[in-house]
Amino acid sequence: MEQTIARNIISLKHLGIRTGQIHYQLSPETLTEQTLLQGQGEISATGALCIRTGKFTGRSPQDKFIVKDALTANTVHWNNFNMPIDEQYFLQLRQKMAGYMSEQPALWVRDGYVCADDRFRLNIRVINEHAWSNLFAYNMFMRPTQEELKTFEPDWIIMQAPGFEAEPKLDGTRSPHFAIISFTHKMILIGGTGYTGEMKKGIFTILNYILPQQQQVLSMHCSANVGRLGDTAVFFGLSGTGKTTLSADPNRQLIGDDEHGWTKDGVFNFEGGCYAKCIDLTAEKEPEIFAAIKPGALLENIVFVPGTNEVDFSAKDITENTRVSYPLHFISNAKSPAVAGIPRNIFFLTCDANGVLPPISRLTREQAMYHFISGYTARVAGTEAGVTEPKSTFSACFGAPFLPLHPGKYAQMLGEKLQQHDVNVWLINTGWIGGAYGTGSRIKLSYTRAMITAALNGELDDLKYELLPYFRLQVPMHCPGVPSEVLNPRKNWPDAAAYDQRAAALAHDFVQNFEKYASGVTAEILAAAPVLHNDQN
Ligand code: ATP
Ligand code: MN
Repeated sequence: MEQTIARNIISLKHLGIRTGQIHYQLSPETLTEQTLLQGQGEISATGALCIRTGKFTGRSPQDKFIVKDALTANTVHWNNFNMPIDEQYFLQLRQKMAGYMSEQPALWVRDGYVCADDRFRLNIRVINEHAWSNLFAYNMFMRPTQEELKTFEPDWIIMQAPGFEAEPKLDGTRSPHFAIISFTHKMILIGGTGYTGEMKKGIFTILNYILPQQQQVLSMHCSANVGRLGDTAVFFGLSGTGKTTLSADPNRQLIGDDEHGWTKDGVFNFEGGCYAKCIDLTAEKEPEIFAAIKPGALLENIVFVPGTNEVDFSAKDITENTRVSYPLHFISNAKSPAVAGIPRNIFFLTCDANGVLPPISRLTREQAMYHFISGYTARVAGTEAGVTEPKSTFSACFGAPFLPLHPGKYAQMLGEKLQQHDVNVWLINTGWIGGAYGTGSRIKLSYTRAMITAALNGELDDLKYELLPYFRLQVPMHCPGVPSEVLNPRKNWPDAAAYDQRAAALAHDFVQNFEKYASGVTAEILAAAPVLHNDQN
């Protein structure tokens, strides 16, 4: 039924795609059934569709290109994440891809949109080789009503075919897999990889280009939620730092878990769903996310407990980056529409495997700018035997791989907003305490949650703070729900001298990383840099 209607209204001929069957706008149930029928998935004990994304189980940032043309040549900040490609290659690949798609017995097409604030809405048409990729699009982008579909015109098109590979020598790519954005043609081509996250981050990249330049909206790699009194909080952070986990809070309405815009009136979600990590997920620690794994949810790259359909959330057999996508309303207290007022609190999340940064500290405006531009986190380098040293990562604005403009643009906009509004900014270390990775341990999620709750409730406002050396961060001496000895890293390391050594090394990394921004910021922001010596002894 759905399919018959679909064939009448959707044609892809203008893209050079002539295929037998187009499955248009199918329901999650039908997409799930089709995936099962094609032997591409299984159903978990709680009813979620489990698929494997293939060779790629994560994004491939080195294979993402932006077409360099009259529009982008002088507006895109060309760097390792924004690599130029000639329009000629884009056109050639689009044609080849259309040929490949035309050979498929069927394609899946879905119309959706992004930006919960109607003023900025962009319609997206997604064309997929597989049904399960199309379920991801259903979950992650916003879902137009039947009425809206009648007049739907796509602003942007994504063509995604995991089975189509480029020929690097002929097609101007680095590898057979690629994601190419053309702002002129308003298209994203994704080939050679089935990792679904490429679709959402492709759209995030275009919004990070369009919104700040054309709409004066600050686009942000952050999660967001709102309290009963209408107080908005946003949580910036690189991958794995806790955006999704910490924004799911039973006492606050969820706005979104990853991508938002900040307008003159408030914040809004770009997406219509969440994309949560599943590794070591438990119902006790993350009840909201756990409960969202039900029919309609799409689980990626997990394995079952042998002989059952129970997901083994601890298993890393395929990847550590196991994921689940689900529509926003699968979280019981999600806000609809996903918009809220001007943030009262901003959290910068870092997962510091060096164990140097305090679990919570309050930032001055200048420190906030310094840490925003730095975008620090330190993940453990790998899970392979022997690789145990944390690797410091600096990613401007907590999202360099997705930012087509110079980081200074986003930083300037945040700076103006911090000046304009009364906002508290907190730095949260969701990583190691009591030592670096290897000797210390990851801070308990319940402690991090308690610290965030205390900050949001104003319970940290009138407390005593102490100043941490090197980073000169204001650390509260007490926090409700958290043992006080957890709060000051220099005191909770077994050996203060070892802490000093590690802190000095990290301070050095910060300063070195910041050199490229030094000439573009004020003296006050520069003065918020860490110092290389313990200035308190
Ligand atoms: P991405 O941008 O890749 O989606 P993210 O910022 O949303 O990443 P999460 O998906 O929230 O990151 O991942 C944080 C992971 O760290 C989760 O698996 C969570 O269970 C785990 N974790 C452990 N301890 C903590 C803590 N104290 N605070 C936050 N997360 C923690
Ligand atoms: Mn996330």
